[in-house]
Amino acid sequence: MQERNSIIGDEYRWPHVVPYVLEDSLEVNAKGVILKAFEQYRLKTCIDFKPWEGEENYISVFKGSGCWSSVGNRQQGLQQLSIGANCDRIATIEHEFLHALGFWHEQSRSDRDDYVSIIWDRIQTGREHNFNKYDDKTSDSLNVPYDYTSVMHYSKTAFRNGTEPTIVTNIPYFMDVIGQRMDFSDSDLQKLNQLYNCSSSLIFMDTCSFELENICGMIQSSDDNSDWQHLSHVPAGPNTDHTNMGECEDSGYFMHFNTSAVAGGSTAILESRILYPKRGFQCLQFYFYNSGSESDQLYVWVREYSDAHPNGTLRLIEEIKGSPVNYWQLHHVSLNVTSKFRVVFQGVRGTGLSNGGLSIDDINLSETQCPHHVWHIRNFTDLLNTSPAGTAGKIYSPPFYSSKGYAFQVGLYINGTIDSPFNLGIYLYLISGANDDQLQWPCAWQQVTMILLDQHPDIRQRMSNQRSVTTDPLELSDSSSNYFWDRPDKVGSAASFPNGTTFMRGPGRGTSAFITHQRLRSRDFIKEGGVYVLLTMEDVSHLVSAQPSVPPTVVMNSTDSAVRPTPIANTTTTRPTTRTTTTTKPTTTTRPTDKPTAAKTPIPTLLVTLTEKPEMDTPESCPDNPCENDGVCVIVDRKAVCRCPSGNNWWYMGERCERKGTTQENTIIAVSSTITVFVVMLIVTITTVVCLKKKYSKGEGKEKAESLSLEENKTSF
Ligand SMILES: [Zn+2]
Repeated sequence: MQERNSIIGDEYRWPHVVPYVLEDSLEVNAKGVILKAFEQYRLKTCIDFKPWEGEENYISVFKGSGCWSSVGNRQQGLQQLSIGANCDRIATIEHEFLHALGFWHEQSRSDRDDYVSIIWDRIQTGREHNFNKYDDKTSDSLNVPYDYTSVMHYSKTAFRNGTEPTIVTNIPYFMDVIGQRMDFSDSDLQKLNQLYNCSSSLIFMDTCSFELENICGMIQSSDDNSDWQHLSHVPAGPNTDHTNMGECEDSGYFMHFNTSAVAGGSTAILESRILYPKRGFQCLQFYFYNSGSESDQLYVWVREYSDAHPNGTLRLIEEIKGSPVNYWQLHHVSLNVTSKFRVVFQGVRGTGLSNGGLSIDDINLSETQCPHHVWHIRNFTDLLNTSPAGTAGKIYSPPFYSSKGYAFQVGLYINGTIDSPFNLGIYLYLISGANDDQLQWPCAWQQVTMILLDQHPDIRQRMSNQRSVTTDPLELSDSSSNYFWDRPDKVGSAASFPNGTTFMRGPGRGTSAFITHQRLRSRDFIKEGGVYVLLTMEDVSHLVSAQPSVPPTVVMNSTDSAVRPTPIANTTTTRPTTRTTTTTKPTTTTRPTDKPTAAKTPIPTLLVTLTEKPEMDTPESCPDNPCENDGVCVIVDRKAVCRCPSGNNWWYMGERCERKGTTQENTIIAVSSTITVFVVMLIVTITTVVCLKKKYSKGEGKEKAESLSLEENKTSF
């Protein structure tokens, strides 16, 4: 049987929907990033993830020492995956879950010696197993070429004991390519999708770069008096399409509405093919170029179909206008469509003088959330070529407001910090804003995600680079007793915008090694000399204690039990929550987009909360235990939820664990559950013996534990 660059054997596969638990030991930022990694899986593969509800096998994500995972589904009930300190990066999490889904490192392929040399005497003692090679009886590469760009490849510095590389690529060019942690490579996706027989994604809907004559099935409407043209060049601009930037002969098309050739009021309508939503929210992205007139406009509509309206009804979503400019501009439009629909682009000729028209290119539609803010740095190549290293070469974004009303900005070290040259450094700053008197301070559990956009035309092949930072209200500044995320006018320093307006900027949090210049110049990060930084600030306070741990229902992993004690208490929170105060919202301003509601509650409760025992923040646990059949009652989002018991061939489900699911006859279930109980007891016994043995022969036990799981090289950034 043909298998892949992966552990051979169907028993190591997970179901397409992988059950997981996010343990309380995880950092809040890590929890948020894990959920974002799941979204990338949903966008680019057919793998989905769901909170564990008693399924037989599930992945328990916790904060262990470093980032590591076992390879494949070990069929052991609770299977651990560690997202430790400094592992809270989306590609690292994607990497660990690829292990869990059945993949070894790329440099473990049976044919790796044709591509890389492992320098064994430069590897830290005891870490050699991470460089094991697996022969083609254990793993298979599925006829996909060796991939230096795989997110599963180690960097040249992995587990080195000195300063010399541990991995040397046979083609020198790839020395600085290996070890990327941006996103899945094309080959990573190809292998995963083949291993799990994926044929479609859960949340991807459409992509179109207009390279083909069929224009992705889009249609010219008959309800207009003009048409969009399929062109590669317009005299008044754009000179090239956005997809290829004119670099490819006989290609490079976009759609254009020539407003210079029609009378005022003329319209041209382009409609997508019919699309079928699953989730009810979508993000439409496209590039737009206006070389016509300031009065020319682009309207984005959706045509929604229902039984009552079989021909569809139009709903206006967004109106895009502005002065003509000589470059492509990225637009995001949030949709919330729940029935089958088309996306409709309507160009409208205004009254002003036009020498050109409206153009669109590189459309992507997916059922994802749009970023909240976009920072387009148009002269980025110039900055890269001229900026000094360090603070003198640092630039700041404009100010942005979160939906809660916090003001923030992002700082970029274009040519790195003094300590970390040849890197782009990125930092988040809270800044003084119009709502500060109404907001909760210190700023609690707001996660900011900063994405350097890979402008590949197809969203599924983008390898954007991102980092997230979460504001922990309890964190103290290193240098003082101030709270790190307190009001910028209290803990920050004076700064000014280019227009001279002064404000206060709090301390920054981010990384000096966001992306190397070499990677930055690869792919499509820079187009037309510019880059896009996409920004989102969202409230993640619901993740502070969202997933209580439950004892495993089937079998404990004996080899991992030495690593971690499972927190079992169902009310434990690792950090005090500040939910009591998070209802405070801005009340007087117009900037935030959400409707402020709550009264101006002052914030004194926060300090009280800090000193309270964590348990005090959790509502009384399961007042009248609603769970049947020995289900465990836990509190999730302040609601009682049952975790239902399960065995090899049976499980309980439903809100109260009232329904039993089986794969076999009742009699067999009775027998098998008896056997399960016996097996569990046996394993517990063995575990105890193994643990005791390990306790007394540490070295041997440790080696055994590591042979099961693969760990990551921790970088010092
Ligand atoms: Zn790994």
